[in-house]
Formats: sequence, C-alpha cells, structure tokens
Amino acid sequence: MRAIQITETGGPEVLRLVELPDPSPGPGQLLVEVAAAGVNYIDTYHCSGAYPVPLPFIPGSEGAGTVAAVGRDVSDFAVGDQVAWAGSPGSYAELALVPAAQAVPVPPGVNIEIAAGCLLQGMTAHYLAVSVHAVQPGETVLVHAAAGGTGSLLTQLATTRGGRVIGTVSTPDKERLARQAGAAEVIRYTEVDDVAGEVRRLTRGDGVAAVYDGVGASTFDASLSSLRRRGMLALFGAASGPVPPVDPQRLNSAGSVFLTRPKLADYVPTRDELTWRAGEVFDAILDGSLRINIGGRYPLADARRAHQDLQSRRTTGKLLLLPR
Ligand code: NDP
Repeated sequence: MRAIQITETGGPEVLRLVELPDPSPGPGQLLVEVAAAGVNYIDTYHCSGAYPVPLPFIPGSEGAGTVAAVGRDVSDFAVGDQVAWAGSPGSYAELALVPAAQAVPVPPGVNIEIAAGCLLQGMTAHYLAVSVHAVQPGETVLVHAAAGGTGSLLTQLATTRGGRVIGTVSTPDKERLARQAGAAEVIRYTEVDDVAGEVRRLTRGDGVAAVYDGVGASTFDASLSSLRRRGMLALFGAASGPVPPVDPQRLNSAGSVFLTRPKLADYVPTRDELTWRAGEVFDAILDGSLRINIGGRYPLADARRAHQDLQSRRTTGKLLLLPR
C-alpha cells in the first residue's frame, strides 16, 4: 500500500510517500480501505515532535472508509461496512488498522468524505460547547480562529445552543466564513491591539462566559482578560505555540475564573460516550444544523503541502487527504 510515513521529526518536509506491505488486522482491529483522511493540527504536532510518537510513524488521526477485513474478537463490524474514526493514528494511507473500539458506523445519508472529516473536530467542538462549558441561551462566548476547522464547528454548535459568539480571525475572507458559521461579532485579532478591550466593549463591560482558545501563545493573555467573573477558559490547543507556565494567582485576579486544558480522548473515554458524541455530530449534519466546510482536498502524495498550508494559516474549514 502507499502511505505517508515519518522517520524523523521536523517540519512538513519529513512527510514522505512510501510503499509498505499491506497490514493485516490483529485482535480487535479492522483493516479499512481509506476513502479519505482528515488533516488536523495534532498531525503537525506528531510530525514536529511536540507530541512524541514512536518512529517510524504513519500520521493521520481520523478518516473513513470501507472495512476490508476484521481481526479476531470483532463482532460489531463486518467486511463491507462503512466506518469512521478519530484519535487512531495511521490514517494517511490507502489501508489503515483501526481499533474496532474506536470505529463508528457511518450513518446512511452521510457522505463518506464528510464522515472522514467530521469526527475529530466535530466531537471536539461538541465536548467544548456541551461538556467543558455548556453554552447557555443568551450568553456570549469567545471562539478564537472561528473560520478554522474546529473553530467554525464550535461557532455553529454554540450558536445552535442559543449562545452569542464573538469570533476571532485573521483575514476578511475568514471573517465572512466566521459570520456564515453564526458569529454575531468578529474581531480581526491580527489588526486589533487590545482584543480583550474589544470583547469588553462588545459585552458592555461584562466579559464572556467562556473562551474557547485553540490558538494558545498569542491569544492566552487576551483570553484570560476577556472572561466575565467566574468564567471558563478552555485552552484546547496551541496553533501559535504553547502557553508559558501560568501563576494560579492570575485566575484569582481575573475574577475567580477557571482554566482547563482538555483533550478529546478524556471526553470519549468509553464506548458509550464515543457513540453518543459521534451520534450527535452525525445527527446535526443530517438535520442541517452543522455544516462541514471542506476547505481543501489533497491527493495522498501532497500531505506535505496540506501541512504547509495548515501551518501557514492559509486554510479554512476541513482539509482532507484522498488516497485514491
Ligand atoms: P485550524 O483549521 O483551526 O487551523 C489553525 C488556525 O489557527 C489557523 O487557520 C489560524 O486562523 C489560527 N492561528 C492563529 N495563530 C496561528 C499561528 N501562529 N500559526 C498557525 N495558525 C494560527 O486547525 P484545527 O481545527 O485542526 O485545530 C485548531 C486547534 O485546536 C489546534 O491548536 C489543535 O491542536 C486544537 N485541537 C485540540 C483538540 C483537543 O481535544 N484538545 C482536538 C482538536 C483540535 P486565523 O488565520 O484566523 O488566525
């Protein structure tokens, strides 16, 4: 099979197209013919070594395709089933081994490319807007990078729940997309000196109930200063780099606020929670309340270009790699 492999850590240049023997499924595993793999920021952390992985390594944390073979002890899936997964590596390939415990059936009516690209960012948006801080009707929340993959889904989910979203973006095109996703207000954070001041102005001095921050280093201080009393800062990523250590006293000064650094795996730790969250994402796609905007499709061989585009802020929405 053809696959993208890294044998050393570094920038996008470490992603190489290689020919490897076809894998066969072990106990509890599915062998899946990958129809499409989602590209996510976490894949760039695996390449750079920010999140260490055993080498050699086939990146790609999500995808969807057709089951080609099943290993021992698999009872829930059969050859020919369409499945999707998130949080299991090896998706940048023609064939992937996926733990059956992490696979979910693709419901009828959901396009296979949408299924490939909706789960990782979709379930992340879901746990942030539903579980980390459950957005309440009428309250205002701040979503950074609101035209990005996760940000645009989070903006849609928060809006559907009745929240008022202030989104941040870097360009006029991204502003248009953030508004399409439902953002009531958009701040071009690359052009505004005092983002927190602007958030205060837009909330009549109150601040927001929650900040969803996947940007990290460049936004953290403004995020903290944008919260209302006892607000929640969900720092869920570091697209601009990791946040330096924080003195807990800053949470006190900011108004007895909360800081959490969550990850998807801790919000889908059981099969029940995984199928519930994935089911809610699929249902929202089917009823039209959640739109997955495919911002780019790349042949498998162009994985390097996909990472370069993602890391240089050129992309919007969801990027897919297509193995065939
Ligand atoms: P996006 O599609 O959102 O791309 C990242 C966006 O971040 C860019 O488009 C850009 O938007 C913004 N950004 C701001 N500063 C920078 C910078 N210096 N370099 C690059 N981008 C920058 O990616 P994802 O949706 O895949 O991921 C978003 C974040 O969410 C990542 O930090 C990721 O790690 C995190 N994440 C966390 C999960 C979790 O469970 N903890 C799960 C999924 C994602 P703009 O140009 O508008 O500024």
